[in-house]
Amino acid sequence: MRRVSVFGATGSIGQNTLDLIARRPDDFDVVALSGGANVALLAEQAKALRAEYAIVAQENLLPDLRAALAGSAVKAAAGRSALLEAAAIPVDWAMSSVVGFAGLEISLAIARNSKTLALANKESLVCGGALLNRVCEDHGTCLLPVDSEHSAIFQCIGGADKEVERIILTASGGPFLHSDPKALEKATPEQAMAHPNWDMGQRISIDSASMFNKAMEVLETHALFDVSPEQIEVIIHPQSIIHSMVGFTDGAIMAHLGPADMRGPIGFALNWPERVDLPLERLDFGALGALSFQHPDPAQFPALELATQTMQMGGLAGAVFNAAKEAALDLFLDRRIGFLDMARVVRQVLAQTDVSGSDTLNIKDVIDADAIARVRAGEAAQKGF
Ligand code: NAD
Ligand code: MG
Repeated sequence: MRRVSVFGATGSIGQNTLDLIARRPDDFDVVALSGGANVALLAEQAKALRAEYAIVAQENLLPDLRAALAGSAVKAAAGRSALLEAAAIPVDWAMSSVVGFAGLEISLAIARNSKTLALANKESLVCGGALLNRVCEDHGTCLLPVDSEHSAIFQCIGGADKEVERIILTASGGPFLHSDPKALEKATPEQAMAHPNWDMGQRISIDSASMFNKAMEVLETHALFDVSPEQIEVIIHPQSIIHSMVGFTDGAIMAHLGPADMRGPIGFALNWPERVDLPLERLDFGALGALSFQHPDPAQFPALELATQTMQMGGLAGAVFNAAKEAALDLFLDRRIGFLDMARVVRQVLAQTDVSGSDTLNIKDVIDADAIARVRAGEAAQKGF
């Protein structure tokens, strides 16, 4: 029996993770499950999987969680510190799939105490990559990427790190691939939510439409795989069948193919270093017909250029980039700024940032950089463009 915990259990990644765990009740002992505010689902999951602890992030929801768990052996807890305490309980495998910057400290607590950190929360790497890598190294923790592209890259590299020449991230192009950049000024959150291939949480779906998600993944690649910014490329591949590719020094390219189902990369991380039967649809190439590719248009997807700028700045620029992007997304969801204004906000905040003098290995410096960037994003939006 392997002891496992899932943080962000009620989300899209969390539910897919529990789907795989629930299929093999004899193999997994569920320790902690957490959710943000969806008490009913969290309680249902915790009871069904006989978890030891259920933690809801919103402190005021503790009475509701207790009521929903009444009659079961699951222990209820609530609030940010309870969540971080639960993430510090040693387990064999823990999934970090809370959305946003809130996930970084959860990932760090897992990395300090558990054997394997399965990392879906991309913000952990983008904002605190240096710190997280250091903690994993110091504690001998195995970090396995869950983002589909990074799982694909990890699988393609297969231990041949030294021979890597280039990493090619694939992007679906999202719902606006064929939209004119001018029309994108008026795009609504509802239109941006409608991803053609992947079924994901609200925030990452909108980030996919703007390619801020791909920009985050470029930064994630930079933090995970010891490659320079020039070695990372993005190519649009609308079918989302190739999940990413790695080019080696001899010119060979390895590609990872599979259906667009997050249970693939989650299952890979859950079972690594073994491969087990997963409940995924099998690809039928005859039915697929063609796979196509095109270069992204910078006018349509300005986020990609901002990722390059962020890598070149170094230091805590990743934390600034992410905070400005999260704040801009909130403003877009509130309909206070337009779709393309999100990139304008991030550009302005980066331009105001001085990355010298901050310590990338210090969580306080990361949190400060995040907080300042959020304030500046609000100011940038208020001033207008
Ligand atoms: P989601 O919004 O569906 O779920 C997020 C989870 O975090 C939920 O359980 C929610 O209740 C919880 N949560 C939200 N805010 C919280 C807070 N402040 N404190 C504690 N818990 C909080 O998101 P998702 O799509 O599952 O994505 C989770 C993470 O995985 C994100 O970082 C995302 O970028 C990454 N990711 C997702 C996918 C995908 O297919 N959904 C793919 C790759 C990477
Ligand atoms: Mg991805």
